[in-house]
Amino acid sequence: MSWKIWKDAKSRAEEEYQKGINERNKGNIDEAIKHFQNAAEIALGSNDPSLKEKGILASVMASMYQVIKQPYVTVFEKLKLSLIELLKLNPNVELDLALPYKIKALDLVREIDILKDIYVLPQINLNEIHKYNNAEAIANNYETVAKELLSYDKENFLVRDLLKLGKPMDIAFKLLALSRIIKALIIVSEEPGKAAELYSEALGYLTQLQDHETMDFAKKKLEETSKATKCWICGRNVQGENVHFIYLQTTMTPFIKRSYRSDAPDIFIEKDSATYIAVCKSCYSAMYNLSDEISKYYYQLAIKALKEVEARLLLEIEQLKREIRSIKISLSR
Ligand SMILES: [Zn+2]
Repeated sequence: MSWKIWKDAKSRAEEEYQKGINERNKGNIDEAIKHFQNAAEIALGSNDPSLKEKGILASVMASMYQVIKQPYVTVFEKLKLSLIELLKLNPNVELDLALPYKIKALDLVREIDILKDIYVLPQINLNEIHKYNNAEAIANNYETVAKELLSYDKENFLVRDLLKLGKPMDIAFKLLALSRIIKALIIVSEEPGKAAELYSEALGYLTQLQDHETMDFAKKKLEETSKATKCWICGRNVQGENVHFIYLQTTMTPFIKRSYRSDAPDIFIEKDSATYIAVCKSCYSAMYNLSDEISKYYYQLAIKALKEVEARLLLEIEQLKREIRSIKISLSR
């Protein structure tokens, strides 16, 4: 009797496992996961010791495809636990992941931690760095994972095609570049010279990756941060365009241009037939605040004048209404 139950469980588990493989081969990942989970449930619930390995293998397959669908920490951890269980039963077990090569479970388990670390890294928008209060921690985090990747002794990840991952070394370089850029963006308000060094380092990593988008960003920042000139208004030395100084449009006679061009490189620039002067952040904000106050003053004056006009008009309307009423009364008599 019990033999029959075992046999049923065995063939049912085998059938579900095979369905999982078939659906996987057709690219129906959700269906495949469901069948692998069924196979695991049947095999592990049957109490037949000979089905244990199949059951755990089915769990591994279910978790593996879940990782591909949603690479979350918990899913990675579940996969790792199942792989360790499987290895206890069979240290040489290989996985069929529909790749041109079989993957040894032992090799895969070694890869899980580093994959997990890559996927849990927070994303950062370099253009909005001021919105993050933990940007420095993120930069350090990127660097730690980059170091881990550099010491990973494989040229490629085993599951690179499934997870669409680049080479460990390339990911490491990208993370190192990003960590330098983030740190530069943070430090530029204090030390533009140091920020320029960090952008150069980042560019060194990015050149090897041919990552043009990030490279253009770092190049532009390096150019701006390295730019040093004098403030046209106060004459102080400044470095770091768009951080410590900005360009404001102005009008300049040929005489002024000729006389002061050599005061400092880029003290004024000409673009699209307009002239712009370099103005340090302090002069700029003093002017900005003052013009803000002046605009407010004139705004209030204008509002006051409008209110006076309004009051006078209302008075006149009242007067007219009264006159109309008295005309109506005299006509009706
Ligand atoms: Zn100034």
